[in-house]
Amino acid sequence: MQQHIHCIVNDCHYWAQGNRCDANEILVATNGFAESQPDQVDAQMASQITPDSAGKCTSTACKTYANRNSDKINEDKVKRMS
Ligand code: SF4
Repeated sequence: MQQHIHCIVNDCHYWAQGNRCDANEILVATNGFAESQPDQVDAQMASQITPDSAGKCTSTACKTYANRNSDKINEDKVKRMS
């Protein structure tokens, strides 16, 4: 089954027309985790990260977000699919 991730954050490097996420993988985390970890900690390290509870959707964040104008878009090792 092909997975579709819909996203409306259009200043992200991985965002695509039609409000799609074009990243080959993403990491969703708690806000606290996302804020405390460097850009290098992302989807490729997911299996090594201890899971945590968020409690509500507004306490979660896309750790894979990278501002499209950033010079650090490759630090997470995530690739665009197209
Ligand atoms: S990486 Fe995250 S913020 Fe960026 S387009 Fe995908 S889901 Fe949205």
